[in-house]
Amino acid sequence: MIIHPQGYNSQPLPTCREEMSRRGWEQLDVLFISGDAYVDHPAFGVPLLARVLEAADFRVGVIPQPDIKQPEQLQRMGRPRLFAAISAGAMDSMVNHYTAAKKIRSNDAYSPGGKAGLRPDRATIAYTAAVKGAFKGVATVIGGIEASLRRLAHYDYWSDRIRRSILVDSKADLLIYGMAENTILELTHRLAQGEDISALRDIRGTAYLAGKDHPLPAHSLPLPSFEDVVADPQIYNMAFRLAAEQTNPFAAVPLNQPHGERQLVVNPPSLPISEEEMDRIYALPFSRQPHPSYLEPIPAYLQIRHSITSHRGCFGGCAFCAIASHQGKRIQSRSIAAIIKEVDAIAAQPDFHGTISDVGGPTANMYGLACGNPDHERSCRRSSCLFPERCRHLQTDNQKNAELLAQIRSHHKVKHVFIASGIRYDLLPLQPDYYDALLEHHIGGLLKVAPETFSDPVSRVMHKPGAAVFTAFLDDYRQRCRQTGHFPGIVPYLISGHPGCTLNDMIDVALYLQRHQLKVEQVQDFTPTPGTLSTCIFHTGSDPFSGTLVHVPRTAKEKKLQKALLLYHRPESRRDIEEALHLCKREDLVTVLLDTHNSHRTAVKPRKKRR
Ligand code: SF4
Repeated sequence: MIIHPQGYNSQPLPTCREEMSRRGWEQLDVLFISGDAYVDHPAFGVPLLARVLEAADFRVGVIPQPDIKQPEQLQRMGRPRLFAAISAGAMDSMVNHYTAAKKIRSNDAYSPGGKAGLRPDRATIAYTAAVKGAFKGVATVIGGIEASLRRLAHYDYWSDRIRRSILVDSKADLLIYGMAENTILELTHRLAQGEDISALRDIRGTAYLAGKDHPLPAHSLPLPSFEDVVADPQIYNMAFRLAAEQTNPFAAVPLNQPHGERQLVVNPPSLPISEEEMDRIYALPFSRQPHPSYLEPIPAYLQIRHSITSHRGCFGGCAFCAIASHQGKRIQSRSIAAIIKEVDAIAAQPDFHGTISDVGGPTANMYGLACGNPDHERSCRRSSCLFPERCRHLQTDNQKNAELLAQIRSHHKVKHVFIASGIRYDLLPLQPDYYDALLEHHIGGLLKVAPETFSDPVSRVMHKPGAAVFTAFLDDYRQRCRQTGHFPGIVPYLISGHPGCTLNDMIDVALYLQRHQLKVEQVQDFTPTPGTLSTCIFHTGSDPFSGTLVHVPRTAKEKKLQKALLLYHRPESRRDIEEALHLCKREDLVTVLLDTHNSHRTAVKPRKKRR
């Protein structure tokens, strides 16, 4: 990848004719349409890709959150010369719009003023139709998390059915999935050199539709057809398993999945990018500000404006999380020197008062980590380097991460550096320098960790470490706090209603919380988001890898009772807890679980599971 970061100003990219004229541009090469407000910051995908193309000398404009009923909004910068790049935004639009209970959300963190309703449902499909209506025959490319995770036939929670690949439903010419810098650069260069979009069939990180008789790529792996996965949940499981085995970019083959008379072809993922490439991308001249036309603050921007992305990727492989299938399992880190330059840029902003709010990525303590055996990595088919047990090839050296934090702390304009990104607590004991620094300098009040459950059977479904690992961490953490005299509290994040979790399991989780003097403030009700293993299990009721039948909490009642158990310490949970204990014939625990005054002195052992 060749990027020339020098020579560009920090004006946002054009969003209207007047801004194009200021740059002396008559026509755009590429028009980005986004479901999010336009914030020219590298934490947001569309602005980042737009800057990557700008740095390669393409003329790029952005239309954020257009009203699809008004074609003139899409036409305001004219027809793009090469293609329109369409994204629903940083979140799947259905996740953005609806709660786990399918109720409409009242706000949207990615919109000015946090206002809801500024993007349509199924935004990728709606925007593509609108662009095709506004510019007849223009090439359309869809990408972003919504397109990425809906690239194959998939279960859709909101309509409670299997949907076709979003490429079929959107009628776009090409789909880009995963982290897209190299993919979109190759695509744009080849279109600029005169290739037709229908001829671009070999670019990593893309998917396309071909006629049934069209020759498929060599060695492509056939997946069960859309019609077959609709008809049989076990065939859906098989399709999920086959696709999940083809996520290592070094070993993956193309996939093909018939949809009616056509074949969906998914090329192998794009290759990870180097530290040098990461440094160049994040050093592009972002203004780091929302577009000046916004009059109201954008909540998601306020959260990240003084934070730093140090890396991407996650090798945790949690079943409910889509990060690995979007960003990849391999950690791609920036250099310390490049990150310190970003600290300089943040510190120069007038609204900076000395606090860096986060340094991290999907998992903060994975910065700088890698597989220690490149040969094994190239052929590795594990979805996680940590589950079911830590791989012996994983190197967990924390020197680079500890050094990074030390250098940021010593910056003359920085007073505080916090870590707000998630932390893998099972890695921390292997990272003593990082762990010490975290405790001493970087916890802003409470240490937030995400065991997600304390039930071992549920942990196995989630691909998380079990309760014993968390207990060992908790004991060690509390001991360190006593030794150092720092006592940041600890808040566990837990999920209710996850596949595999029965009411009995959740009663045991509540007892665990009580025994270990832990209180949960927020409960995440499980949402079957597109493309995850947990969503597959939610739909089929069985694990696609082991074939084991899995209990799936589906009724509003069961979900409510599970949630109440996690919030056992709240008076308003009392009636639901009594009901849950009655349903499970565990009334003997009523006094134990609800006697909050005696709770810390009561030693309760979990009873044997009734499964
Ligand atoms: S070989 Fe082990 S450490 Fe390397 S990528 Fe595979 S699971 Fe991770």
